[in-house]
Amino acid sequence: MIGTDLIEESPETKAFWDAVAGGRFVLPRCRLCHRTHWYPRGICPHCFSTELDWHESSGDGEIYSFSVNRMGNEPYVVAYVALSEGPIMLSNVIDADPLTLSIGTRVKVAFRPAIGRLPVPLFVVPSVLSPKL
Ligand SMILES: [Zn+2]
Repeated sequence: MIGTDLIEESPETKAFWDAVAGGRFVLPRCRLCHRTHWYPRGICPHCFSTELDWHESSGDGEIYSFSVNRMGNEPYVVAYVALSEGPIMLSNVIDADPLTLSIGTRVKVAFRPAIGRLPVPLFVVPSVLSPKL
């Protein structure tokens, strides 16, 4: 897995991990410039404000770019997912045949257990959604 593996639990990311513990996916949004960003941190990367709020994400997004790693036992998908709130997040698309994925495929966040830590937000292809044309 990738993406949230790099987000250390710290005072700056506590709200994110507290939400994850409750099965919620939240994103930081700046009170000054009103932009949402990823990854969780204590300063807005757009205007450098430290006035941040946390907002529930829809968990919806689409594949911005992806790669299939075929090293190891099973292939897995590393993807940049463009969240509907704007930020682009590096993560994994799981439980999907890599041959069915393309740029623009709609995905939704799904939490999966992780060894020795809280569940991590990854992405799945909802069966009711079809790729955006
Ligand atoms: Zn800002």
